[in-house]
Amino acid sequence: IIEIKNVYKFFGDLAALSDVSLDIKSGEKVVIIGPSGSGKSTLLRSINRLEEISRGSIVVDGQDVHDTNNNINNIRQELGMVFQSFNLFPHKTVLENLIMAPIKLKGLDKEEAKAVAVDLLKKVGIREKANVYPSKLSGGQQQRVAIARALAMNPKIMLFDEPTSALDPEMIGEVLDVMKKLAVEGMTMVVVTHEMGFAREVADRIVFMEDGRIIACAPPKEFFNSTDHPRLKQFLSQIL
Ligand code: ATP
Ligand code: MG
Repeated sequence: IIEIKNVYKFFGDLAALSDVSLDIKSGEKVVIIGPSGSGKSTLLRSINRLEEISRGSIVVDGQDVHDTNNNINNIRQELGMVFQSFNLFPHKTVLENLIMAPIKLKGLDKEEAKAVAVDLLKKVGIREKANVYPSKLSGGQQQRVAIARALAMNPKIMLFDEPTSALDPEMIGEVLDVMKKLAVEGMTMVVVTHEMGFAREVADRIVFMEDGRIIACAPPKEFFNSTDHPRLKQFLSQIL
């Protein structure tokens, strides 16, 4: 459902992505790890064209994301994205945050959108917070709202960029639980995270990036046992 072929991204002289190729099947869960500056966010952002690529191609559900003849807004509707910072609209209630895009972009009427939103809030375990403002929520709750908001567009694929990195430790679990639930339901997921327990449990494949390149890509068991990549070994010894 995502085909990334020989992608390069240059910021001036710096190759943030260097010959990156990766195919992700429908329903697959891929976790991306790697040191700071290795290109993880750039890769994720390139998938929905928040970043223009310099070379190569990215095809999502049959559509070339970087072909300017294609309507990027249609492609983006298939891609939900969740960031480290929750990016909720502070002057809108939780429910309003969830219904805005479906009304505007999918043409749902308000009652339909509300029904979907309430279901999603139940799913992420904060039904009772529908009418409060984001500032009244904990970080973990805000991130669960952000996930629900992405799901409200009914995407085929969810992209997560370090969704738990800004959270206090006691709130990480509740967000990971929501993500695990999504995984079990069969969502296609690409997740940048340092949560190795999550990676081990949920990932079909783990990708290790360094200096804009994919250095290793394997199912968790194989990945954590790989002894032939000294840099991967070193990285794992730092975070495990
Ligand atoms: P982190 O773990 O810190 O989030 P990352 O793996 O997500 O790191 P990226 O944010 O993708 O790394 O950055 C890859 C490289 O591209 C880094 O060297 C970064 O400094 C550079 N870079 C990213 N965005 C820009 C930009 N807008 N302009 C210039 N350089 C950039
Ligand atoms: Mg990043």
